[in-house]
Amino acid sequence: MTHRFQAVKGTRDILPPESALWNRVEQTARRVFATYNFQEIRLPLFEETELFARSVGADTDIVSKEMYSFEDRDARSLSLRPEATASVVRAYIQHGLHTRPGLTKLYYIGPMFRRERPQKGRYRQFYQVGAEVLGSSDHPALDAEIIEMLLVFLDRCGLREYTLYVNSIGCSDCRPKYIERLRGELQKVKDQLGADSRRRIETNPLRVLDSKLPEEQPIIEKLPSILDHLCDACRDHFQKFQQELKDRSLAYEINKRLVRGLDYYIRTTFEVTAPGLGAQNAICGGGRYDGLAELLGGPPTKGMGFALGTDRLLLALRQVEESGGKDQLDVFMVWLGASALRAARMLARRLREQGISTELLYEETKLKKALGLADKSSARYAVLIGEDELAQNKFTLRDMRSGQQRAMSESALLRELAASAGASAAEE
Ligand code: ATP
Ligand code: MG
Repeated sequence: MTHRFQAVKGTRDILPPESALWNRVEQTARRVFATYNFQEIRLPLFEETELFARSVGADTDIVSKEMYSFEDRDARSLSLRPEATASVVRAYIQHGLHTRPGLTKLYYIGPMFRRERPQKGRYRQFYQVGAEVLGSSDHPALDAEIIEMLLVFLDRCGLREYTLYVNSIGCSDCRPKYIERLRGELQKVKDQLGADSRRRIETNPLRVLDSKLPEEQPIIEKLPSILDHLCDACRDHFQKFQQELKDRSLAYEINKRLVRGLDYYIRTTFEVTAPGLGAQNAICGGGRYDGLAELLGGPPTKGMGFALGTDRLLLALRQVEESGGKDQLDVFMVWLGASALRAARMLARRLREQGISTELLYEETKLKKALGLADKSSARYAVLIGEDELAQNKFTLRDMRSGQQRAMSESALLRELAASAGASAAEE
């Protein structure tokens, strides 16, 4: 028996009509981000393993357990990208983007790879839409503006319920002191913590705050907060950032446990969660990373960005609207006889040139059956071509919703359809 191939565990096919929803979300991202003067960067799907080890951190789950790494034929270790900020910063340095005037505002859309335990909202190949601002500014308004862009995008996608959490994790002046304090407090409650957290007291105490273990929650709640340990400059930045959010009427909550375990992360961190996704409720994470470019051998650069999980956003959207979101087919051609097929073929080409989506079947089909197929295809209109139409050099346009039909010349037909296709595109 031959082997029946299946998509590899943790990967999946995105089939129509669902793929239309994906396209819509990605299209919305492109449109919204462009209005904030962001431009797309297309990045390789794999990089040197060392790039991720350095920028994501060798000690993180992502790098230590979840990366798809392999030895290339020249014995170099390569990895499928688990995230894209490292690549964006690598490209920024490699192409000297810092020498271009102004801020560098980039967005990316594409798959990421992590070998995690697959479950709802967690896959081994998943998709992200992300944006990064690199350059010389760390103005708190910039942090707020990126979040505004993200939330406008979510609104435009139709997501109604979500929560924005924000926090500040200080800087290299104030954070080390807080970490020492935290380590001290953690030592006192060590025996009540699980193995992972106990290990992290030494390696990375901040990450204990990230723990999802139910038993540890009451203990973590009582730990000192970074917000009480910010230096003046960081406290000022956090305050101004919040004022910027308020000035933009962006609702938020402070989550003092929202941290990043790596040294180059600084000040602003944020997360957006959506209901109905169980444990995988984080749809987007982001923050400021002013030291990353230098860590990768680049010039001093300030950075701020986010990565949004498209898979999870779509799951959340599905809770909102069960509509399926199929791309609307504009025209289904119905023809009778060989000469009608010739005319239909020519007309289909002209309609498609006008951006009007058109289905044309090449098997001759009886009128009733053809109209049934048009109905099943959910086409907005059918265009009928038979002997009468050919004789009069006209086409019959049938509105599939009302059932009304009218004969008209080709130019009238094109005008009518262009107007209605334009209207449905504008509705989106
Ligand atoms: P989580 O805590 O859920 O594992 P994370 O902290 O690993 O998330 P980030 O690395 O910040 O996530 O990635 C940003 C976003 O990418 C997440 O908020 C989530 O929406 C999405 N994401 C991360 N890992 C996966 C995955 N394995 N499958 C689907 N989406 C994912
Ligand atoms: Mg994760």
